[in-house]
Amino acid sequence: MINIAIDGPAGAGKSTIAKKIAADLGYIYVDTGAMFRALGLYMLRKGIDPSDGEAVKDNLSGADIDIRFVDGVQCVILDQENVNGLIRTEEVSDAASKIAVLPEVRKKMLILQRNIAAGHDVIMDGRDIGSAVLPDADLKIYLTASVEVRAMRRYKENLDKGIKADLEEIKADIRERDERDMTRSEAPLVKVPDAKEVDTSDMSIDEVVSYIEDMIRSIA
Ligand code: C5P
Repeated sequence: MINIAIDGPAGAGKSTIAKKIAADLGYIYVDTGAMFRALGLYMLRKGIDPSDGEAVKDNLSGADIDIRFVDGVQCVILDQENVNGLIRTEEVSDAASKIAVLPEVRKKMLILQRNIAAGHDVIMDGRDIGSAVLPDADLKIYLTASVEVRAMRRYKENLDKGIKADLEEIKADIRERDERDMTRSEAPLVKVPDAKEVDTSDMSIDEVVSYIEDMIRSIA
């Protein structure tokens, strides 16, 4: 099995890039952020404050999260329901990053993520894939871009979807999420020494895709 790890901050382009590469090379794309989001949604639905670590831990075992692939597309299943369409709101993003600081939450996700990688050629994106989930990955990429560029991308994405967006608010949200993801004690977002850093600030999607595909071809 070939395992490719892509880590990086929110809005660096991980999912867009990883999806395209997976389609081109016939790998499965695994979006680990979606799993944390599904768990965040579960807590919100139960009326639990995602910042209340004790309450989150107490309710963790009740959340049944699973991943299925339908025509190569990842579906996150929460208690038998496909929640793909419900986990992209700012409220769920925020909840996901708050619960993701808990070791108990990460352990639950790690088992699920490793099981998928053991059975498939995968390109998996997240924050701790190269450092914790797949430390022996065949290739590790650290994808990044400036806060300004990342905020602008999210802003345009929202407008395209017809969602009202405020650029300054998005920028503040990205900064806050970066800070939490990078400074948490459990599996923080870091660039591991064996990861190749790719700064996408001034690159088009196609440029990034072909750059990384060349790297994969040289090792696969
Ligand atoms: O990547 P995405 O923005 O969907 O992830 C949502 C949140 O889930 C992140 O801000 C991060 O806190 C958390 N996450 C994580 N580890 C991963 C993937 C996501 O902690 N591997």
